[in-house]
Amino acid sequence: MTIKTSNLGFPRLGRKREWKKLIESYWSQKIDLDTLHTELANLHKENLLLQKNYHLDSVPVGDFSLYDHILDTSLLFNIIPKRFQGRDVNDDLLFDIARGNKEHVASALIKWFNTNYHYIVPEWDDVTPQLNHNVLLERYNFAKSLNVNAHPVIVGPITFVKLSKGGDQSFDEKVRTLLPLYKEVFNALIDSGASYIQVDEPVLVTDESQSLEAITKEAYDYFESEGVAKSLIIQTYFERVDLAFLNTLPVKGYGLDFVHDHGHNLAQIEKGLLNKEKTLHAGIIDGRNVWASDIEAKKALIETLSQYTEELYIQPSSSLLHVPVSLDDETLDDAVRDGLSFATEKLDELDALKRLFNEDDDTKFEAFKTSYDRFQNQSFKNLEYDFDSVRTARASAFSVRREKQDAKLQLPELPTTTIGSFPQSKEVRKQRADWKNKRITDEAYETFLKNEISRWIDIQEEIGLDVFVHGEFERNDMVEFFGEKLQGFLVTKYGWVQSYGSRAVKPPIIYGDVKWTEPLTVKETVYTQSLTDKPVKGMLTGPVTILNWSFERVDVPRETVQNQIALAINEEVLALEANDIKVIQVDEPALREGLPLHSEFHETYLENAVKSFKLATSSVKDETQIHTHMCYSQFGQIIHAIHDLDADVISIETSRSHGDLIKDFEDITYDLGIGLGVYDIHSPRIPTEAEITTAINRGLQQIDRSLFWVNPDCGLKTRKEEEVIDALNVLVSSVKKLRQG
Ligand code: GLN
Ligand code: ZN
Repeated sequence: MTIKTSNLGFPRLGRKREWKKLIESYWSQKIDLDTLHTELANLHKENLLLQKNYHLDSVPVGDFSLYDHILDTSLLFNIIPKRFQGRDVNDDLLFDIARGNKEHVASALIKWFNTNYHYIVPEWDDVTPQLNHNVLLERYNFAKSLNVNAHPVIVGPITFVKLSKGGDQSFDEKVRTLLPLYKEVFNALIDSGASYIQVDEPVLVTDESQSLEAITKEAYDYFESEGVAKSLIIQTYFERVDLAFLNTLPVKGYGLDFVHDHGHNLAQIEKGLLNKEKTLHAGIIDGRNVWASDIEAKKALIETLSQYTEELYIQPSSSLLHVPVSLDDETLDDAVRDGLSFATEKLDELDALKRLFNEDDDTKFEAFKTSYDRFQNQSFKNLEYDFDSVRTARASAFSVRREKQDAKLQLPELPTTTIGSFPQSKEVRKQRADWKNKRITDEAYETFLKNEISRWIDIQEEIGLDVFVHGEFERNDMVEFFGEKLQGFLVTKYGWVQSYGSRAVKPPIIYGDVKWTEPLTVKETVYTQSLTDKPVKGMLTGPVTILNWSFERVDVPRETVQNQIALAINEEVLALEANDIKVIQVDEPALREGLPLHSEFHETYLENAVKSFKLATSSVKDETQIHTHMCYSQFGQIIHAIHDLDADVISIETSRSHGDLIKDFEDITYDLGIGLGVYDIHSPRIPTEAEITTAINRGLQQIDRSLFWVNPDCGLKTRKEEEVIDALNVLVSSVKKLRQG
């Protein structure tokens, strides 16, 4: 059998974020629309040709976009938010929906399944679905004109509707409205020569897929009756599917994830559940991590799979949107480089496998095998740990700790504090960049940081807050900062991935065992404490969040890495305590978003999360007050885990969800300290005293006054200095009035 190779999507950002820069230049009117289009077409061409270099049998189109591929689909079908209706459907409309304009707010951004990519939520209120300009066809023809063998990619009707909100129609009605429009798009693509169309239906891997079976079947039966189904590949990723059901859908073939399926997809194939005449698009190379494949194991997987289908494509497990473009631009230690694989290297692995099978040429294959083996044997991956030597529970119960902390801290009723960061002003960012690029000396940078800290200590004194912070001016990002300082982490130069729109993040890569080798935050924190009699809160990121926002190792279990990070954070917590820091906050904003897609894994995930948080924080004395922070509010099913963290104080967001949070607290007696985020830091608007007082009083209905803290709902780094000062003044004066009763 001849093995074919394909891809599901390529990073649109470009090697050095060219995409982002172009789009932002257009937004700030530095370039006009024509220039934007010309330049983007060049970038798209470069992406297509780059993929073609790896001899793919088919390269995806439809992944490239001006902002987000789901938004492209909304525009294609005229699913335009009501407040933006009546305008020409063009690129400016697209950007306005994505970003908002003076008159109207933007559409919501939501996380794409369990990734860190965010799509624009389609809104169905009062829409008139119809076919607009077919950008997908245009992009397909563009690839054709470059002699690139391409296949169009589009999100399928079931997933599209599932990701949508609004509208009076039922779910099934929405799908039915779209079907004829999809059919027209498919027909146009087929007429133009598309040999197959990749229809992404990742919703079929979720817990909800079962309830969607009837409408899914109806939709694909419709495509069959209209004669287009034989060109469709239903593509899934991120988890397993129910293959018995998928097999009932009359399409050309199916795309399955063999990396993140917990072995279930393969098991179903081996049971003979795949109809042999169907094309199998096998996602065998991890599309969302940065590791070189165990290529020998991939070879064995291909051998197995090829027994069960007559046409086999091998491909990444998902779109490569979730990984950086290329290792070529990085300066890396060879020992580490051996283990890494970004988008283009992943395509090269596919090429190596294809050559091995189709041409009996094992040169590339052997080279990959050698470097993979070399990496696995590195000493930085084989440190010894004694997890049992660290406490996983505080020495005393909360009631005991609380008395000692109260005696030591002497805080007033309803203590006030902030979440950690103060504005990352232009000046702060400039100084940091100058220092990184060695344009200013270490001393000059340190002096700048000290001045900024001291200025903000005066501001906090002036406002009258009770627990102070240093402001996090030295941090670019709450995870990257720790990644730069802990052993076992690598911070790349160009390892960007798109988070949403033009925003990209650069997750650190955990390549080896994690270890604390030097204090991370002690100097700044101790300096800050030396300036004031008020307690200064040390500020750390927790193990769950550091892991979730990094590229994690896959050669050891996740909880091992998480616990290694926890031990490192524990060292830092103890170092702060040893330096007389009395309050220490360990942020866990990513705890909830890391919940696995399938509920069967939730309990273990939460148990491991709690365990690692406790490893990181339980070794302190009773007198030391541990805070944590999470900036979301729908605690629902995880409220018990939050309680189990046993943090002396948790600060959480409530301002945007209003009363919702309080409902979660009805099912549990939350008897630890809790700080409610009483105003929304995402908006420049200054809250009124009445609003803050109402928010506090609402919380006090459910939570004991003596446990209650008052704070903004997240860090203040994105706000302007005046906004921060004004808002915090309102917060403190509201609290002062409440204290007087
Ligand atoms: N301490 C961090 C800050 O204030 C917390 C950020 C977050 O919750 N995402 O910026
Ligand atoms: Zn937050």
